[in-house]
Amino acid sequence: MGKVWFVGAGPGDPDLLTVKGRRLIESASAILYAGSLVDQAATLYAPSGCNVRDSKDMTLEEISAWLVEAAAHGDVVRLQTGDPTLYGALVEMARALDAAGVAWGVVPGVSSAMASAATACETLTLPEVTQTVILTRVAGRTPMPPGEELEALASHHSTLCIYLSITLLHEVQRALRAAGWAEDAPIVVVQKASWPGEEKIVRGTLADIKQRCQAEKIGSQAMIIASPALGARHWQDVARSKLYDPEFSHRFRRAEK
Ligand code: SAH
Repeated sequence: MGKVWFVGAGPGDPDLLTVKGRRLIESASAILYAGSLVDQAATLYAPSGCNVRDSKDMTLEEISAWLVEAAAHGDVVRLQTGDPTLYGALVEMARALDAAGVAWGVVPGVSSAMASAATACETLTLPEVTQTVILTRVAGRTPMPPGEELEALASHHSTLCIYLSITLLHEVQRALRAAGWAEDAPIVVVQKASWPGEEKIVRGTLADIKQRCQAEKIGSQAMIIASPALGARHWQDVARSKLYDPEFSHRFRRAEK
């Protein structure tokens, strides 16, 4: 009896798989991958004879049954985009494995929020500006639990990484305005972060981000980052991180006098 590994494939570039994830793929007897965003990693590193299948046309029941059946023959990889713990239906699949007595584990992946920040060369935290990152979405067919409406989360004025919401940019704009964000607050949208030759970065403001995304025809696979730290590399001045401040002592370094 094998084990099922939920492996984070990262945001698209197969080089962003973890070493552990890649090793598990290379020794898997079966791989079930989640749609077109991760097919490269699945097919590049799968051993010959491995049973590789796309799950895009399968229901949860079919996926669970497939994983249980495949685990009877050896170790199985369930390859998911980004990190498996974010918007990945992990618990629904794992509960079915528990019920069938199949062991499972999770290997983290580079989430698209981090990949998008990297693509745009932005930081998500900045001393004295924002020290908090909220990973969220707006309600689509999945409703938001009470208290997690974007308007409420945006009232902190910290960094927001908004998944699954590119077709609802008007709703993002409405929520940020209601939370008091200025019309010129910077927003960056990154499509297909980490995809060589296919990445798109759209920089705008609360006022114009929707028109800019429309002009660039961005309608899917995009991350919305709204943050008071955006563009900080071009500011005249930023507060220094204490860790590297010559006047600050810590465990590994004495302050200069
Ligand atoms: N588990 C994934 C998220 C799955 S939900 C993760 O950790 O990234 C799917 C959403 O993720 C998309 O709607 C989009 O908002 C975002 N996304 C996934 N891949 C992306 C990429 N390469 N670039 C930008 N956004 C991406």
